[in-house]
Amino acid sequence: MRLEDRTVVITGGASGIGRGTAIEMAKEGADVVVGDVRETPLGADEDETTAEVVRDLGRDAVYCECDVSKEADVRALIETAGEEFGGIDILVNNAAINLRGRVEELSLEDWNTMIGVLLTGPFMGSKFAVPYLRESDQPRIINISSQVAFVAWPGNAAYDTLKGALSHFTRQMAVDLAEYDIRVNAICPGPIRTKNAKEEHRDYEISHRYDEKTLTSFTGEPQDIGRAAVFLASEDARYITGHNLLVDGGWLAGDFYS
Ligand code: NAD
Repeated sequence: MRLEDRTVVITGGASGIGRGTAIEMAKEGADVVVGDVRETPLGADEDETTAEVVRDLGRDAVYCECDVSKEADVRALIETAGEEFGGIDILVNNAAINLRGRVEELSLEDWNTMIGVLLTGPFMGSKFAVPYLRESDQPRIINISSQVAFVAWPGNAAYDTLKGALSHFTRQMAVDLAEYDIRVNAICPGPIRTKNAKEEHRDYEISHRYDEKTLTSFTGEPQDIGRAAVFLASEDARYITGHNLLVDGGWLAGDFYS
């Protein structure tokens, strides 16, 4: 067990990558606090909540309703974890949405909404968690960024820009929080089969290239990101901080746009 008795807070943990990360961390012995705007997973094929699955695995888990763009919600999420679970060892800033559009198409309202969820959310989560993380003997912040922090996709002005900012925020926090021994890293997923990704890219030509563009023989599943997060949270990654880890089936090593 690589995360025995650690407490992890995961935003957007009800579905997709956040859910996969919660499950993989619970398998390694972690207790889980899920912060999400919804309790049940997106998609009709799974009915158990993430907290129920984690409890089935023998670990403690709780769901807190939380919109990461709202200060009071994020404060309450972190305080619930810190007080009810006796501390926080790992924060995973995962929640995101995507309001797509080119720069000339996006409304100011959509742009600001995206900033609230993708950047202010991780800022507040990290800010409120630091006092608890400082008390941990193996503290970690893991930001879920994207391969689009490295390359831009067409028609994705806000999402790509904010993932780039989140990846740099990762480096910046690694510098400032090194003083407290807090390791701060990001995972930059390539295409991962989540409900969100399938719907979002439904009419988008790149989605048809998932299987053919990854160098692996398959497109990634949420647990592939969860296992990378377990590694970064574990003692095995003690010499890694300020890093953006691409987990993309080799997509960016090849020819992204052809
Ligand atoms: P998803 O839509 O399947 O799940 C996102 C979860 O976040 C949902 O449970 C949703 O309810 C929650 N959420 C949305 N807005 C929220 C808010 N304001 N506050 C709290 N929770 C909120 O998404 P996913 O595909 O699992 O993506 C998870 C992360 O991985 C995101 O940061 C996303 O940008 C990143 N990512 C995903 C892919 C992919 O292909 N799936 C690729 C690169 C990066």
